[in-house]
Amino acid sequence: MIDKTHMKNIGLSAPIEKLKGVSYKIVKPLKILGIHTIYDLLRHIPFRYDDFSKIVNIAELAPGETATIRAKIDKITNKRTWKKKIYITEAEVSDESGATKAVWFNQPFLIRNLKIGSLVNLAGKAVFNSGALYLQNPAYERIFESSTSEHTHTGGLVPIYRETAGITSRWIRFLVKNAIGQVARMEEILPQEIIKKHNLLPISSAILKIHFPENTDEVKEAKRRLAFEELLLIQLLILKARRKIKKSVAPPIAFDIEKTKKFVASLPFALTDSQRKAAWEILQDMSKNIPMNRLLEGDVGSGKTVVAAIAALNVASKGRQIAIMAPTEVLARQHFQTLSNMVAEFGFNVGLLTGNSAEIFDSEVKSEYKLKKQEFLNQLASGKLLIAVGTHALISEKVSFSSLGLIALDEQHRFGVNQRAELLQKYKTASGLMPHLLSMTATPIPRTLTLTLYGDLDVSLLNEMPKNRKNIITKIITPSERMSAYDFVRKEIQKGRQAFVICPRIDAPEDSKIKSEKAYQQELLKKEIKAVKEEYQKLSSEIFPDLKIAMLHGKMKPQEKERIMKEFKANRFNILVSTSVIEVGIDVPNAVLMLIEGAEHFGLAQLHQFRGRVGRGEHQSYCLLFAENSVLTNSRRLKALINCQNGFELAEKDLEIRGPGDFLGTRQSGLPDLTMAALTDKILIKEVREEALVLLKTDPELAKHPKLKKYLERFNAKIHFE
Ligand code: ADP
Ligand code: MG
Repeated sequence: MIDKTHMKNIGLSAPIEKLKGVSYKIVKPLKILGIHTIYDLLRHIPFRYDDFSKIVNIAELAPGETATIRAKIDKITNKRTWKKKIYITEAEVSDESGATKAVWFNQPFLIRNLKIGSLVNLAGKAVFNSGALYLQNPAYERIFESSTSEHTHTGGLVPIYRETAGITSRWIRFLVKNAIGQVARMEEILPQEIIKKHNLLPISSAILKIHFPENTDEVKEAKRRLAFEELLLIQLLILKARRKIKKSVAPPIAFDIEKTKKFVASLPFALTDSQRKAAWEILQDMSKNIPMNRLLEGDVGSGKTVVAAIAALNVASKGRQIAIMAPTEVLARQHFQTLSNMVAEFGFNVGLLTGNSAEIFDSEVKSEYKLKKQEFLNQLASGKLLIAVGTHALISEKVSFSSLGLIALDEQHRFGVNQRAELLQKYKTASGLMPHLLSMTATPIPRTLTLTLYGDLDVSLLNEMPKNRKNIITKIITPSERMSAYDFVRKEIQKGRQAFVICPRIDAPEDSKIKSEKAYQQELLKKEIKAVKEEYQKLSSEIFPDLKIAMLHGKMKPQEKERIMKEFKANRFNILVSTSVIEVGIDVPNAVLMLIEGAEHFGLAQLHQFRGRVGRGEHQSYCLLFAENSVLTNSRRLKALINCQNGFELAEKDLEIRGPGDFLGTRQSGLPDLTMAALTDKILIKEVREEALVLLKTDPELAKHPKLKKYLERFNAKIHFE
């Protein structure tokens, strides 16, 4: 079945151009997919399989089912819809049991491949429309009766690959077939003991089976082997990073009991037990001369900021600097204000640095002033300013600190393992001391993921909410209930409360049309802005023409966003309409209504994040989930949200319902697909982690495992965990 006759001596590292069947036209698309060599191609793993194993007679086709038929082309024509400029190719096909149709969109060239009278396998979904049954966009393969060749594109399990403009799965399958003869050359990087002990396939058969499986068991076996390998590489990276940090030296920050007590007493509330515990853990870590590397994980509204402030206060009291980084300007400004108020009485100034401005809160006069960026940087470099809050601007090339003692990253899932390590390296002080690192996230991460992705961190959990929090009433609003829901919103607003409206999540533009990551982001942004403007228009002209409504989206100038947030906080707007990406973290206690449009399109974790924007003040809060489709109002996810207010429980459920790919968003995670899929496999993760620990214990530099070492380095360069 496999053509081994050609390109015998090319080798796996040969450029993909050398492979038979690679025309110059597809070189570029292949490279976009990250396929530069034969090796890369063989490592381009299918993300799913179409099951076309069922070959049926045309008479047996059933609507909604996926099947393969073997039929003769009786007639084939191209049409063009006059309005939409879409090509429709329609074929009439038959076998001895009957006749049916096949329809393809925008593939007019098919007419050249599928000639009248030829015999084909057609594999796809049977659709019933306008009184007739036809196959919609079926995969096709010509059958030559003289040959007994096996079928690559139809019949059996057909692999589906990640595609891009100019190259389809069909193409990739064809190329993989040409390259698979090289599979025996693939190096085995896993130690033999591990392969034996865990009953894993050798790499060459795993690759062979992942592309050409005989059945689903083979797919499973191959996936397990490949996932094992990837997870092991990840674990090794993480454990090595952890070791490296633990070997560095940090400035010990002695716990200042007196100041900490005074600070806690000055708060308008009592700390929760888990806040106390987390603060204690952090202060313990920082009192050592090993750099802290801790994740503070707590649901939205659980009060992470105060905990970070306690850490900051202790560091500043020792005359060392603190850099607090937030993902957006709005959040950075909010932290700046909160911290300024909290530490003013201790005589510390607080700075804010964003892409657009530099400000300092002067603790003596208790007010803030703007200054030139350069002056701000001078204050950091000289050590005059101890506490600085900012966006990414705070870690740009030009910034230097005189004695950085603590870096705190808010919403840390945006920073990867490598970036964390880089940050720490970069801000070693002149005397070689590494700062402590506190990462914070409101994204509740299920434990399996924490171990896999954040295994380099120690974790403190804020698993309770401040006592004064009321439960948020969550309700699904069907299309027919929409108007009465708006009446309810109006009543709350008349009482003086405010509302957020989140616009529906915009589906990612189709992959095949995207040329670059930048183009993708721009396309997405454009669509989002359109959605916000439409929603804003609808609410302000039709539903609530008498109310004050503002909108917020990603294309506004930062100053404009600031102004709107400020005014909303001051209750000068009743309703704030925003995109789903405009971000977490904003604290407006008077806002008690969270309206989420297109709620069925969001993940549980994200819905929970939105819901966390309300319920922060004394008033009863509500989260209204508008579902466009009344069938979907029954979805397990939305129900889970109604019944559960705990982010961690929801995260576990979300992971279970959607799988890790959607949970983390493959695009953002940068993780290989297989690893993503394996993230729910607790047993596998545990096995891998144990092996990684043993390996590093017995062979810390992997000197006895040179192949593994080499691949680890490559893997490190490739993956960015973001
Ligand atoms: P998050 O964990 O989402 O970052 P914040 O730190 O922004 O949460 O805190 C949310 C709100 O809760 C803030 O207004 C904060 O002042 C308040 N808060 C924090 N801790 C407590 C507490 N122990 N009791 C009451 N309110 C608290
Ligand atoms: Mg926060």
